[in-house]
Amino acid sequence: MRLSYYCKSCSRKNFVRVKSNNRFDLQMEKGDEIKRNCDLCGTHGITHINRLDAEPNRMALIIALSLGVVLTGFVFYFGWIASITFLLPIWFYFDQQKRATDFNKIKVPRK
Ligand SMILES: [Zn+2]
Repeated sequence: MRLSYYCKSCSRKNFVRVKSNNRFDLQMEKGDEIKRNCDLCGTHGITHINRLDAEPNRMALIIALSLGVVLTGFVFYFGWIASITFLLPIWFYFDQQKRATDFNKIKVPRK
């Protein structure tokens, strides 16, 4: 999951990669706060995990899309199977959106 937050010093968007798919797992993985230097201005910042927002993985989406196009072209002569390979990236897109929305909906209780 790719998470984003805004730097307190320069207000630019920073990204963090985590394994967790929800905030509870993230709390186990990283703790209550993420301590990181800003990618742009280098200021050391502490961000509470509730302030992190998930974003759909665009890179994975592009890969899925191009793979879908290639596969669709490849299996086009086999008929109906082509519609499945065509739908796969679309399904993947909605799955990514849903994962991000689910993540953003749930906040961990603040101590
Ligand atoms: Zn900054």
